[in-house]
Amino acid sequence: PTFGSTTIAKVIEDALLVVSARLREQSVTVTTDLHDAGLLVRGGPVRLQQVMVNLILNALDAMKGQSDPTIAISVAQVENTVQVSVRDNGPGIETQDLDQIFDPFFTTKEVGQGLGLGLSISYNIIKDFGGTLSAHNSEDGGACFVVSLDQGEGEQ
Ligand code: ADP
Ligand code: MG
Repeated sequence: PTFGSTTIAKVIEDALLVVSARLREQSVTVTTDLHDAGLLVRGGPVRLQQVMVNLILNALDAMKGQSDPTIAISVAQVENTVQVSVRDNGPGIETQDLDQIFDPFFTTKEVGQGLGLGLSISYNIIKDFGGTLSAHNSEDGGACFVVSLDQGEGEQ
């Protein structure tokens, strides 16, 4: 493979740095459960960071103008995979949109606000790394995206 391993902690920390201005602007509370975040995952750090940034920016868009916006990021080891979930407390994804959100150019945003490419690109990045990206709404109604990647080996 043309990619190595990287710690998921580094990917998440770097992604949060990239979006830090918008997190502050929208007064978003970010909680992280990075208990397993020292784990290595198979994938290139820059492209994994791009996926995390896309997921966080979507969460920020979904929670615009809402009170108490929160993003919860957690990492868990499940057998030989590492699962990263990005959960928000926004309105969630419309049920009828759930099977289209990963399609290129699918967007529910106003013209000029979104191209509808973020999730499509993210899906393909994760697929290239042999992992999966899925979406569901949590019980409290917000959206939850789960990235699952094989554990990496060797040097970071
Ligand atoms: P864009 O952000 O340009 O609209 P994306 O591919 O990133 O394109 O997302 C596609 C669509 O998926 C969004 O327009 C929105 O309808 C839905 N979506 C993505 N993330 C969320 C989220 N966190 N909460 C609610 N809907 C979401
Ligand atoms: Mg987007």
